[in-house]
Amino acid sequence: MSESRKILMVSSEAVPYAKTGGLADMVSALALHLRESGDDVRIVIPRYYSIDKSKLEKINGPLGVPTGTDEKWTAVYKDMLKGKVPIYFIDYDQLYGRAGIYGPSGSESFEDNAERFNLLSRASFQLCRMLGWYPDVMHCHDWSAGLIPIYLNTTEFAGDFSQTASVFTIHNIGYQGVFPAEETIHTGLVETAAMLHKDNMNFLKCAIDQSHVITTVSPTYAKEIQTEQYGEGLEHLLDYRKYDLYGILNGVDYNDWNPETDPFIAPDNYSKEDMANKKKLKALLQEEAGLEVTDKKPLIGIVSRLADQKGFRELCEPFYGCLASLCRYIDLQFVILGTGEKWCEEELSRLNSTLPNLHAWTEFDNRKAHLIEAGSDFFLMPSRYEPCGLNQLYSLKYGTLPIVRMTGGLADTVENYNQQTGNGTGFTFYDLTPEAIYNVVGWAVWAWYNKKDHIEKMRQKAMSRDFSWNEPVKEYRKVYDIAMTKRR
Ligand code: ADP
Repeated sequence: MSESRKILMVSSEAVPYAKTGGLADMVSALALHLRESGDDVRIVIPRYYSIDKSKLEKINGPLGVPTGTDEKWTAVYKDMLKGKVPIYFIDYDQLYGRAGIYGPSGSESFEDNAERFNLLSRASFQLCRMLGWYPDVMHCHDWSAGLIPIYLNTTEFAGDFSQTASVFTIHNIGYQGVFPAEETIHTGLVETAAMLHKDNMNFLKCAIDQSHVITTVSPTYAKEIQTEQYGEGLEHLLDYRKYDLYGILNGVDYNDWNPETDPFIAPDNYSKEDMANKKKLKALLQEEAGLEVTDKKPLIGIVSRLADQKGFRELCEPFYGCLASLCRYIDLQFVILGTGEKWCEEELSRLNSTLPNLHAWTEFDNRKAHLIEAGSDFFLMPSRYEPCGLNQLYSLKYGTLPIVRMTGGLADTVENYNQQTGNGTGFTFYDLTPEAIYNVVGWAVWAWYNKKDHIEKMRQKAMSRDFSWNEPVKEYRKVYDIAMTKRR
């Protein structure tokens, strides 16, 4: 294989332009690291209303994009991500010129999403034609780029893209892009069976069925999604394709998340050699949260979307969850930062006013997220499922021991505490029940009060772990090579 590959990333999100979750971080970080490895990598995303086109370069156009119903004339803009990776924006006001990426709010979807994201796939091919640049691999991310593989196998099978392979990454199988079957009309493809699942059009199923290689964002999640418990109805298809399915852990951008250099905690930065400032940051966090300022009690942090996926029912549903009991019966403190489901935001606000040792912020605030990672003793993630998870990786780097359910990327990155030897990097549990969460938090708190030497040893080990992009990038390059052999 040649040393330099031509890769087109097709995505609905990429930082710093458009983000709702970890997908946006991953796409940009992977592209930049591939560039550093010598690959000719480019990104394409829609030009949403929130992306200011006056700051972008307009390139030749218009770009004619055939769809199943008509030909759409789009404009194309370009920028250089961190001055290194070309990123192209498909501009088409009728479909993208409105507030929101998938819908007007986090819990609502636009009715024409099938048409919107079909256009993204189709326009990606036309963009390459316009540039006279034909990628070795089109790397498609999540359902919104899920129609590329079927086009490569049909309309684009011969001709300009005859040497192009598809790699499809599943970032979260809970979001599949499901629409009424009639919406297949937007593709113009006659053979619709591959696009259908249980009588609906399903972008994610289509991608899993049609792509040359499939990846997901951790080895454990790759196995889990082949089971009924985690497969969201696609487990049989994933089992069928298991020899083409690879689990590659996401990396962390240590330029942003490193206690030694993090500007959000300056001037109190710290390292594993000198942890003194971590105590100062704990005091600062307690003060900002209106909690008692003390180092005599363990402080547990959470930063999360407030969603069922993250275990919030078991943690804090009224009359069922265990959060209130933890705060009442165990000598600890909690600080929580999150936005999401309304019932959960309301319940956290209620607990806020009744429990003196808990503070919850229901907002999105990057600085607070950094302060919580730095100032807490433990970081709790009782996720129902977690494809990769980033916060436990940040926690390890900040010496804030993660308490996690053994699922997906959490299982791949956190090593359970061994009470005999003091080994481990965190505290883990299996059953997603309020009792199990109560017990594992109780265990961590017990160790904090009674096994200080173990906690220090675990912190040192956690902070030494390396989850940078160096290894994942090598694995993606291998996967691209495998995909390319399937096309040639
Ligand atoms: P997911 O993509 O499923 O939401 P990840 O752990 O992969 O979960 O990534 C979530 C990212 O969003 C992390 O960087 C986390 O710190 C950040 N985040 C989540 N909620 C908030 C919030 N309320 N304020 C600031 N950052 C947040």
